[in-house]
Amino acid sequence: MSNKTLNLTEQLQQYLLSVSLRESEILKALREETANLPSANMQIAPEQGQFMALLVQLTGARNTIEVGVYTGYSALAVAMALPEDGQILACDISEEYTSIARRYWERAGVSEKVDLRLAPATETLKEAIDAGRSSTFDFAFIDADKERYAEYFELCVELLRPGGLIAIDNVLWGGSVIDPQKQDVDTRAIRALNQQLLSDKRVDISMVPIADGLTLARIK
Ligand code: SAM
Ligand code: CA
Repeated sequence: MSNKTLNLTEQLQQYLLSVSLRESEILKALREETANLPSANMQIAPEQGQFMALLVQLTGARNTIEVGVYTGYSALAVAMALPEDGQILACDISEEYTSIARRYWERAGVSEKVDLRLAPATETLKEAIDAGRSSTFDFAFIDADKERYAEYFELCVELLRPGGLIAIDNVLWGGSVIDPQKQDVDTRAIRALNQQLLSDKRVDISMVPIADGLTLARIK
């Protein structure tokens, strides 16, 4: 028994997956295809996809945002958890990666739910604000370039309704956040946002040690 978060061994992690992961065939196929890419470690962990799908169901989300699509795993997990009329405003800049994503969304029958915008995410989110969509989204997942995390967070705070949930990925950044030797732009940006969120009175927070760390921030 422990009242501290466990340091998962490989075997315990395998056990966790063996008794809880319900990955659909289509998500599994996408994970396997992505595994062949040199950038495959950008993809979220399958148990995290399942957790995010549960969050979407729990919050009754309908309108969602994704900042950082890559080959589409997190968007697919969210899209399949959304109701029929649910929507994802999906932001990425890579035609190459998102062409894989589109293929899988098509196969899963969720293409109608994904509004993919190939442009810098700040532009897409600012456009949504200019189009009068502030306080209309229910859920957002932030997982693109880390140096702009704080900016994406601010834009999502503006776009989400009170009670809406923002999930921020890689907040433990492979442990780099506690390594004083790591002073690169990405690590510093993640540390700064983590620190800022601790005292950000606009949101309720929890930093969940799933995969590479996922902070949940609920708009008050
Ligand atoms: N959520 C994805 C998944 O589940 O597989 C992984 C996202 S990956 C870590 C980050 C993505 O952010 C890449 O596909 C990259 O092209 C995209 N990206 C990088 N800079 C961006 C920017 N300025 N605006 C939008 N997307 C960007
Ligand atoms: Ca990530």
